[in-house]
Amino acid sequence: MLTRKTNGVATGPRLSKALAATVGSAIDRRTFLKRSGLTVGGIAAASSMSFGMVKKAEAAEAGSGEIKLVKSVCTHCSVGCSVIAEVKGGVWIGQEPGWDSPFNLGAHCAKGASVREHAHGERRLKYPVKLVDGKWERQSWDQAIDEIGGKILDIWGSSGPDSVYWLGSAKHSNEQAYLFRKLAAFAGTNNVDHQARICHSTTVAGVANTWGYGAMSNSVNDMHNSRAIFFIGSNPAEAHPVALQHILKTKEQNNAPLIVCDPRFTRTAAHADEFVRFRPGTDVALIWGILWHVFQNGWEDKEFIRQRVYGMDEIRAEVAKWTPEETERVTGVPGSQLKRVARTLANNRPFPIVWCMGGTQHSNGNNNTRAYCVLGLAMGTIGTSGGGANIFRGHDNVQGATDLGVLCNTLPGYYGLAAGSWKHWARVWEVDFDWLSAKFASKDLMEASGVPVSRWFDLALEAKENIEQPDTLKAMIFWGHAPNSQTRMPDMRRAMSKLDMLVVVDPYPTMTAVMHERTDGVYLLPAATQFETYGSVTATNRALQWRDKIVEPLFESLPDQTIMYKLAKKLGLADEMFKNIQVNDDEPLVEDLTREFNRGMWTVGYTGQSPERLKMHMANQHTFDKTSLQARGGPADGDFYGLPWPCWGTPEMGHPGTPVLYDTSKPVAEGGLCFRARFGVERDGVNLLAEGSYPVGSEIKDGYPEFTMAMLKKLGWDGDLTADEVSAIEAVAGDDTNWKTDLSGGIQRVAIKHGCAPYGNAKARTIVWNFPDPVPTHREPLYTSRRDLVADYPTYEDRRMYRLPILYKSIQDQDFSKDFPMILTSGRLVEYEGGGEETRSNPWLAELQQDMFVEINPVDANNLGIRDGAMVWLHGPEGGKLLIKALVTDRVGLNTAFMPFHFGGHWQGESLRDKYPAGADPYVLGEASNAAQTYGYDSVTNMQETKATLCRIEPA
Ligand code: SF4
Repeated sequence: MLTRKTNGVATGPRLSKALAATVGSAIDRRTFLKRSGLTVGGIAAASSMSFGMVKKAEAAEAGSGEIKLVKSVCTHCSVGCSVIAEVKGGVWIGQEPGWDSPFNLGAHCAKGASVREHAHGERRLKYPVKLVDGKWERQSWDQAIDEIGGKILDIWGSSGPDSVYWLGSAKHSNEQAYLFRKLAAFAGTNNVDHQARICHSTTVAGVANTWGYGAMSNSVNDMHNSRAIFFIGSNPAEAHPVALQHILKTKEQNNAPLIVCDPRFTRTAAHADEFVRFRPGTDVALIWGILWHVFQNGWEDKEFIRQRVYGMDEIRAEVAKWTPEETERVTGVPGSQLKRVARTLANNRPFPIVWCMGGTQHSNGNNNTRAYCVLGLAMGTIGTSGGGANIFRGHDNVQGATDLGVLCNTLPGYYGLAAGSWKHWARVWEVDFDWLSAKFASKDLMEASGVPVSRWFDLALEAKENIEQPDTLKAMIFWGHAPNSQTRMPDMRRAMSKLDMLVVVDPYPTMTAVMHERTDGVYLLPAATQFETYGSVTATNRALQWRDKIVEPLFESLPDQTIMYKLAKKLGLADEMFKNIQVNDDEPLVEDLTREFNRGMWTVGYTGQSPERLKMHMANQHTFDKTSLQARGGPADGDFYGLPWPCWGTPEMGHPGTPVLYDTSKPVAEGGLCFRARFGVERDGVNLLAEGSYPVGSEIKDGYPEFTMAMLKKLGWDGDLTADEVSAIEAVAGDDTNWKTDLSGGIQRVAIKHGCAPYGNAKARTIVWNFPDPVPTHREPLYTSRRDLVADYPTYEDRRMYRLPILYKSIQDQDFSKDFPMILTSGRLVEYEGGGEETRSNPWLAELQQDMFVEINPVDANNLGIRDGAMVWLHGPEGGKLLIKALVTDRVGLNTAFMPFHFGGHWQGESLRDKYPAGADPYVLGEASNAAQTYGYDSVTNMQETKATLCRIEPA
């Protein structure tokens, strides 16, 4: 976008230059692509390794034979587009988008269209390496596992299990994610987390605490039924490109207005009927400003609120303060525009509310997500086809990795960390609870949340006496995580230097490999991509898809599950961890992992999706309706594609999955639901259960609490249980066994047989009384240029959370706005993903976007003396500084700067290219936006704040 090309010559660094820097001579793209397909590894072996110890790492050449078609799923976002790979002689020679897939209908974006280059990438890490005296030395897998495992055992002995951090990934398949969380549990720590913490943790917490589950309620396909679409902080044109085809279809066929609320005029905003530009960090004020007009005009859905919503009167009281004048003072949006928005929504129901990281990545994030929910509840559009809260997730399996519990605050299935939760999983794992407890430093630490990934480095930097665990962090294991996706990178760099050991497990080395100042104690282990293994992945709409293996792992890479097994073996955990999982040549059988989590994930209904059912869906994609996602005839007849969770009961029960959460227009047995009863039955004398609202066919024609064995007995339905189910229920807790802990699935089966939801039938709540702000509240960002608003809308007092002290007021009390007058926000580009190491190493994608940049409004640029394309210094208030190009554009408003967050490999003006292992440096490097991003964490989840801080920009 920034690079000006004249006769095909870029002004920025050419790819060929980047290639020349590491392989000795420039090659053109055609040659490169030919090599990448047929002779990968031809330029791969330069290193300081000892060849006597290890064999040459190389990929296979395409041999003769038939071309085989293998179906997989794109790994670059959660839309879940199918990829059809053409494989010849074990070599991936071509690819097509999946035409039968109801998600992508034969479309791919640039990232999906180039996944073969991702797998066959020349710039992959090809064998294990270790940093010795500042140089990368090749190792064998046995050496690496032995040394890393040995060091972990040493640290466990001296500092305890909480001094090793297990940072997992939204890139794991469901099976790998589950195994990773299990590994951390067996390692005796809750210091485990993944990217969901820094992308949608505020969604999961906010939404789950409003109506039951923290996930997208409908599907992208279901948006075909919408009459309007409301986006806030979401830019699918770049972040979820193939989703946009469904949205544009709705716009055209239903004449549905698109409303886009964003501080920046995005590529999605370019399609909008109404673009609302608002000040970053004022989402709650904006939503209350819209609701002010709704309530003034009586546009709310009164019957829906009466039957299914708790606490709307308290919301009315808060919203009354957000007059058009006050809303404009805080958000910058005129009341007349918000009245138009409110009227458009009122006249065009149902509409989904779509949000992404523009809404979540704030120190006020949980308030934002709950305010969005309240808007949907007030308008009666939740639990309705064409409506809902359509929270687009980011990475391909961030929904699944969240569900499978790669989190510091819960076990798989959101069971939490209470003793009862551990006992449930100990039963599933068939291990002795006391044996498991003994792995932890204490019972308290076993039941206490660990440190979130957003602050892992504070666990290394804080004084020992300030942390709530025996010792500071000594070893960090980055397993599929890019450090440049996190704020406060200078602090992270300091922490990396303090560790005893730093381990990266990834197909590409990531910026972790180069941003530290260490000369030893760093290991890089080559993981296989998802195209070199197989298993299930959960798309943004909660549907599971099965990937088949396209090629055997290239170079010396290994699938995650194999690396986990090897490590568990070295740590002495393998016998117990894998007692019910077949292991062949150190590779656990993936289907056994699916079946194991099927036996435990009752809370979210990950129990009905057996490997066999998922494979059958993939093989019969063409039989599913492209809007309802329901199979019409064929072997999956009646199922919803991918068995979107909850898919209740056992696989044998044949539940079809739940296409729209909380939709009472269908029986539960056919995918219907109601809001979940998880907050009690009454509060201060007010009923929390639904009133006169229930799923079609329910034998209980009102609200009811969650099902237990005692409740079944009371209703006289326990006679419907089989003898085996009764004995399984007795073995857990007798009458106290509930729908979540019954390992037989009998309680779920019988409740559904009588038309009921196993988790009860309640109202959604707009007041989350266990959160710091029960009613969603606007609070100014910690780094705000609106000093006039701090007194009215202050942040929180400093406090302690997640084992660490955390700052709020002490930062906001300081006025940084004079030295750092511009608001800084960040976001995505269509060409890259996440920290960008994979996609910037992909020659096709790298060619499309070669320069890191900052967008500046023309007025600001003119006042600062900055021309379009000039180099500038961007300074953050905590000392970070970046040397980047200026993109002068009206996309951003006055006094606002925007940066993409996918770049890395430069540090404060210096290239780190020489620090990558030979041949593993991405083609495109650049400054990481997060090196200038600052402190600021959500008050519930510790989500980082990347969407509203301050900066100063100067000509370079
Ligand atoms: S990145 Fe997302 S939209 Fe693009 S092809 Fe992959 S799954 Fe589809």
